[in-house]
Amino acid sequence: MAKPATPICALCERPMVSEKHGVYVLLMAGMPPIIYEVYHSDKFRCATCGNEVLSGYANDPSIVHFHEDADEQVARILALPRDAYVYVFESEEGKNVFHRNHFGLERSC
Ligand SMILES: [Zn+2]
Repeated sequence: MAKPATPICALCERPMVSEKHGVYVLLMAGMPPIIYEVYHSDKFRCATCGNEVLSGYANDPSIVHFHEDADEQVARILALPRDAYVYVFESEEGKNVFHRNHFGLERSC
């Protein structure tokens, strides 16, 4: 058996399958959190349990918050279908503050 080319589902002990290429990962930093950097990644899914993970990042971010055109680039991403991007928070508190400020609700997972 060859070295795995995709993430492994630790629960199911099976290689995950590629679900979607080019998912944006929005790294959130600060309090209240702002979009600090954006990376491209790929989404993988466990065919057995349905668990999903993001992996396969580029070495460098495609957007950094202080870039001149960062706001326009982020606006284009946020206009995409919701499964095209994922927020990543430094803390549970930051996640809750962001979701409360932007969507009016807490998010527990
Ligand atoms: Zn699984």
